[in-house]
Amino acid sequence: MTDTAHGAQHTAAAFRAVYGAEPTGIWAAPGRVNLIGEHTDYNDGFVMPLALPHTTLAAAAPRTDGVLRLHSAGADGGVVELRLDELRPPSAGAGWAAYPAGVAWAMRAAGLPVGGADLHYTSTVPLGAGLSSSAALEVATALALDDLHGLGLPREELARLAQRAENAFVGVPCGIMDQTAAACCTAGHALFLDTRDLTRRHVPFDLAAEGLCLLVVDTRVRHQLGDGAYAERRAGCERGARALGVRALRDVPYAHLSAALDTLAGDPVVQALVRHIVTENHRVEQTVAHLDAGHPRAIGPLLTAGHASLRDDFKISCAELDLAVDTARAAGALGARMTGGGFGGSALVLVEEDAAPAVTEALYGAFAAAGHTAPRIFPAVPGPGAHRLAV
Ligand code: ADP
Ligand code: MG
Repeated sequence: MTDTAHGAQHTAAAFRAVYGAEPTGIWAAPGRVNLIGEHTDYNDGFVMPLALPHTTLAAAAPRTDGVLRLHSAGADGGVVELRLDELRPPSAGAGWAAYPAGVAWAMRAAGLPVGGADLHYTSTVPLGAGLSSSAALEVATALALDDLHGLGLPREELARLAQRAENAFVGVPCGIMDQTAAACCTAGHALFLDTRDLTRRHVPFDLAAEGLCLLVVDTRVRHQLGDGAYAERRAGCERGARALGVRALRDVPYAHLSAALDTLAGDPVVQALVRHIVTENHRVEQTVAHLDAGHPRAIGPLLTAGHASLRDDFKISCAELDLAVDTARAAGALGARMTGGGFGGSALVLVEEDAAPAVTEALYGAFAAAGHTAPRIFPAVPGPGAHRLAV
């Protein structure tokens, strides 16, 4: 039996134990890592996530009384019961249930005929590790409700509803990347996504066939700084766009970077933020070009340059992420960078497959020597986006 089939049976059995009835179906949505294109998504720019094999499963059945019951194997506190017509944003203090409840709220607020349901979740996506367990939870919910009600919404619409849930209902001002990755990625590919209009292309990303490996290094730390810093960076980028007279920093071409930096000379903080966004969009385009040309090793230096830019210009790295990147490179990796929001979470390491064990050992050794918690290290093999499981 495959892991997914095993997970589906386990999730169905848990649904029966919680609710005393059979689920109508089981829906899956993956966590993700972003290969490159960091903090570009709220600047209308380019990103390039891939879906992890780690997934959140939602077992669900409809109800006719307008009640939403939510239960997760990954959360304490038992079944959360809510009336759909009483859901109001923002959901201060609702805990984990705000994510799925927010999806039901966003669908209903969009005028969709979504009724009550019982849902039970299991997940292999590490929570709060920058691998987007929140989007996996939202998108699994959105697809389950979509299917239960026979709506057949397009994938990008499910992503938008999930983002709306997180922005307006949960109160996290995230961009559209994570939800689009969970909804739209395909196995064996990275998703080249233009976050302005959500046009996207699936770029083949079969590293194993090339003798390469992409490691995720979950540092297991998340520094508190993160939330305020995100809002600050976002506001700084908007200030930069206004000063440059563009709708978003995406509209500053790489060829015009030095002129833009001259214009911003009086505001070095915003200048550095703009430099990161403009160079990062360029790195995404270069990454796509290298992959299209069949030169995956050439993306290593772009990953490393992206890390330097996030560390020095965007100032969102931390000791653990820098240690992961520096150690991996010193041990022979082709490139490495922090991925996700910053201040902890995970790093990505591109490495020749036969060097992966030595790099992994070096990482464990360096974290132990520095007195940090042991990282969790695993290969990122691009898996499928959200889908319904056969049970
Ligand atoms: P990330 O998305 O990087 O994992 P977030 O802070 O955005 O980190 O989201 C993590 C939060 O999402 C958790 O604290 C929890 O509230 C919620 N969450 C995600 N997956 C689950 C799950 N399977 N069960 C319960 N809560 C979950
Ligand atoms: Mg999240």
